[in-house]
Amino acid sequence: MAKVIGFVNQKGGVGKTTSTINVATYLAEAGKKVLLVDLDPQGNASSGLGIDARALEKNLYHAMILGLAPQSIILQTRTENLHIIPAAQDLAGAEIEMVHIDSREFRLHGVLRQVRSYYDYILIDSPPSLGLLTINGLVASDEVIIPVQTEYYALEGLSQLLGTIELVREHLQPNLKIGGALLTLYDRRNRLARQVVNEVRAHFPGPVFESVVPRSVRLAEAPSYGKSILDFDAFSKGARAYKGVVRELLEREEEEKKLKVL
Ligand code: ATP
Ligand code: MG
Repeated sequence: MAKVIGFVNQKGGVGKTTSTINVATYLAEAGKKVLLVDLDPQGNASSGLGIDARALEKNLYHAMILGLAPQSIILQTRTENLHIIPAAQDLAGAEIEMVHIDSREFRLHGVLRQVRSYYDYILIDSPPSLGLLTINGLVASDEVIIPVQTEYYALEGLSQLLGTIELVREHLQPNLKIGGALLTLYDRRNRLARQVVNEVRAHFPGPVFESVVPRSVRLAEAPSYGKSILDFDAFSKGARAYKGVVRELLEREEEEKKLKVL
């Protein structure tokens, strides 16, 4: 059964999509079967992996709202072991249409239940809001990774996000865990950025990944070629950082397995 990880932060431009794409790619490279779910009507994760969702007949909208089987929507990416459910602009309408349907918070959960047994990991790229799409992402997740941009306002909005996670836990998904904060867009020459890293490590109420993702032009360029950083520049510092994040995730998986045996 796949572990489902949601990448969530209602703040825009903090590296959710970049992190989802590259963590998914390195998990696939490590031999895991991975499904990336693009839950953002902007469709950045889809285009970042070279998929033009506007040209497709079906996307996540059709599974979540019209009840189409996800198997008929899932696509293979250029990376072996990495599949995607793409998103397009019509998903923005879903946010509104869902308001009137039953179990509206569980639509994505219902979609993923149908394919969960085929994968080791399912990663969800969320939109920059705490609306119904993101709530669907949280309810469908076993854990959340919160990308945090290392800048002065990094912690602003985090308490609102943690409050929302707490509400989801109380009312909708009691087993939802905080997988960790992932520091992104880090500029080591900036003293303030170093302070923010220390702040987050000291105050974030959950694990913080050891790996810190640097600000890197190569990471910003890769999506315009429809490529992950592994395919675009495997030896760049951004590539090394995401490889490190995945190493941490896989180490945790090993730990969890050991605990189950005991
Ligand atoms: P949104 O909230 O709009 O969905 P997001 O949180 O998904 O944004 P990204 O799209 O991953 O954030 O990143 C925002 C922008 O910053 C993109 O142009 C991306 O290419 C760039 N970017 C992300 N991470 C880095 C990085 N470590 N170094 C340099 N540029 C980055
Ligand atoms: Mg995004």
